[in-house]
Amino acid sequence: MQRKEDLFITCPRCKEKNFKNQKKCSECGLVFDKLNYVTNRAGKIAVVKREKEKVLKVDKWPPDVKKYKALLLCGFLGFLGIHNFYLGRYVKGAFSLFVTLVASICILLENYIDYSAFYETFFFIPTAIMFIFWWADFLLIIINKYKIPVAIDYEYFGVKTKNEILQEIAEFDNKQEDKNSDNVENILDFKRKKK
Ligand SMILES: [Zn+2]
Repeated sequence: MQRKEDLFITCPRCKEKNFKNQKKCSECGLVFDKLNYVTNRAGKIAVVKREKEKVLKVDKWPPDVKKYKALLLCGFLGFLGIHNFYLGRYVKGAFSLFVTLVASICILLENYIDYSAFYETFFFIPTAIMFIFWWADFLLIIINKYKIPVAIDYEYFGVKTKNEILQEIAEFDNKQEDKNSDNVENILDFKRKKK
């Protein structure tokens, strides 16, 4: 028996549910095979350059970042947002880093200056949010739900050129075309059997 998740892919750009054998998202037109050519490195560059239209947030681990590294960084240094910097979620990382630094300074100097009023009034909530981010991210990384910014990497680690990759995608598309007609039949079959 096929499970429902085996049949569908959620588009990382518009969140539309598509059949897995579709080449393109029926809503926004994203070519799914291009997801095989994305890297976190290209995603980070696009994030820094503020080229939002190039960035996709995916929960599938791209080849250039490692889950175990992210998990270790989050577990030991998550209160400083280091795992967010590693994966290119800079705003989130900067928030955690800032909150932890201010909180640390308050604790270090608490014998000299009384911060308690400031802390209780202004800093309790940011600190709580930082802890929630830290622990939630740890969980999200474990269950593969942490959203990683990626972009199509035409340099593909410098091995392939943009044209080579585009050609590969075109060839893949052609092959898929043949497969697709079979698959659509299979799905229709599957639906008929269910009824
Ligand atoms: Zn889409």
